[in-house]
Amino acid sequence: MPGKRSGEEQVEVGAAEAGADAGLGGLTAEELQQGQEAALELEDMMALSAQALVRAEVQELYEQVRPLGKGRFGQVLLVTHRQKGIPLALKQLPKASTSLRGFLYEFCVGMSLGTHSAIVAAYGIGIESADSYSFLTEPVLHGDLIALIQPKVGLPQPAAQRCAAQLASALEHIHSRGLVYRDLKPENVLVCDPACRHIKLTDFGHTRPQGTLLRLAGPPIPYTAPELCGPPPLPQGLPIQPALDAWALGVLLFCLLTGYFPWDQPLAEADPFYEDFLVWQASGQPQDRPQPWGGLTPVADTLLWGLLDPRPRRRSPVGSVRRYLGRPWRQREGDEEEVD
Ligand code: ADP
Ligand code: MG
Repeated sequence: MPGKRSGEEQVEVGAAEAGADAGLGGLTAEELQQGQEAALELEDMMALSAQALVRAEVQELYEQVRPLGKGRFGQVLLVTHRQKGIPLALKQLPKASTSLRGFLYEFCVGMSLGTHSAIVAAYGIGIESADSYSFLTEPVLHGDLIALIQPKVGLPQPAAQRCAAQLASALEHIHSRGLVYRDLKPENVLVCDPACRHIKLTDFGHTRPQGTLLRLAGPPIPYTAPELCGPPPLPQGLPIQPALDAWALGVLLFCLLTGYFPWDQPLAEADPFYEDFLVWQASGQPQDRPQPWGGLTPVADTLLWGLLDPRPRRRSPVGSVRRYLGRPWRQREGDEEEVD
């Protein structure tokens, strides 16, 4: 099952300055400006939201129905409003592991993005309790994508293509707002119906403005782009850019089509699967096709090579996915079956 705890423990060290080498790590001047505007907007929104926090214990306002999921620091509960009975998802983050600023960041980013049909809607209600911070979003009741990916199989092709289209659209929306999502993985993709026709992206705890300088602090995971694994272009880190999400989308699509990861880490010296991929990309020869790529079609090869280009400046943007929809991505027969 291609689930991974986010090993992308990244140290945030500030924002790239306008006038710095705009090409650094593939960041364009326009992306940098969009990121700076996004950062200013978020600061204003966070200041207003801090003043408007509801101070109460969660159980005074909402009745707990059942847990919906658990992440690294917090939990998400299905609750109902005590007077009105409306079902809601409540994400609760303990103060022991979450700062007020960290909470406000995630809460406000979610609010600013939640109007897109493939992004979970936020209700704009933040709660400060004695030991935790919480916010409310729409509940999505068919679990997350990790439960639907059959090990060594993946998803039926139509469902995989629908996920690809909707995720590309959600990520394009995030990028158009000057932000980089930075945490694409099946656990953060919520499934709205049993046939997986509609999905929604959630969890904006790692989302940051384009141009924020970041360094990788923990070991890389398959979704970590290679430019984050090497020495950073600036001592303070890499100015983050939308290409990081394009890489993660490529890895996620590979998982949806195969049911396993293409590699554990994008480090040629440490991971033979990644090394084989680089050899194949360099030669383009069918005999160099790595074994994990065996079941994919030339259409899928072209799509994934674009998203998984190790050079961020050459990497295809997330929206490139659209050109490949409705064409075969997997060679295996019986792909057209739907999830019931
Ligand atoms: P973390 O930041 O700790 O990873 P997430 O926001 O990803 O937390 O939530 C943890 C899990 O809870 C998700 O992987 C998902 O399974 C579930 N979940 C999160 N939000 C919702 C929601 N709105 N509706 C249903 N389930 C949710
Ligand atoms: Mg998560």
